[in-house]
Amino acid sequence: MGVPSAFVRTTGCPLRCVWCDSDYTSWHPQGETRTVAQILSRLADFPTRHVVVTGGEPLIAAGIEELCAGLRTQGYHITLETAGVVFKEVACDLASVSPKLSNSIPFAREGGRWAERHNRLRLRLDVIQAFMDCSDYQLKFVIERAEDIAEVRAIVDSLHGVDPAKVLLMPQGTTREELDRRGAWLVEVCKQHGFRYCPRLHIELFGNRRGT
Ligand code: SF4
Repeated sequence: MGVPSAFVRTTGCPLRCVWCDSDYTSWHPQGETRTVAQILSRLADFPTRHVVVTGGEPLIAAGIEELCAGLRTQGYHITLETAGVVFKEVACDLASVSPKLSNSIPFAREGGRWAERHNRLRLRLDVIQAFMDCSDYQLKFVIERAEDIAEVRAIVDSLHGVDPAKVLLMPQGTTREELDRRGAWLVEVCKQHGFRYCPRLHIELFGNRRGT
């Protein structure tokens, strides 16, 4: 956090988290088609050597292997943000895997028509483990309520060799008020379990705005 980074955001996601903060890549996917060469050329406009490939779900984007290979060839540090439901062996320095808890099930959106599918697809321990085994990793959980902690604990205990310092708990919320309220108790949970607290710095700095 705090490292100036360029973000490449792919559109399209197999999940439909109820609190998704990038609807324009999931519930209502939008975007332009760009070639890998065009993306690499655009990145050259930024002084940073850190690139975050995110989504949506970048592992389902056409050309993701080629994009990550191109970033590697050009010497970028690559962080791959994924929900951990699809595995592909792509060039990556840090796999930032965000397994989805039951608090993400969209019962309350569009009459709940995505709830069953989302719940069926949202957690793939084998995929998470594969990412952990092939690059540096962090596991980032979005926390909304106290019951979520038992789910995090069960997932972490089901995986092999998880370093608690690489488990990040992030409060759910898109306003400072929500984040402050949830963050206050979440910090205490992190202290108890040896997990890391993960603020939403972009919300604090820029608000809930597209492009930040
Ligand atoms: S996995 Fe990410 S992009 Fe997909 S619906 Fe959930 S929060 Fe949105």
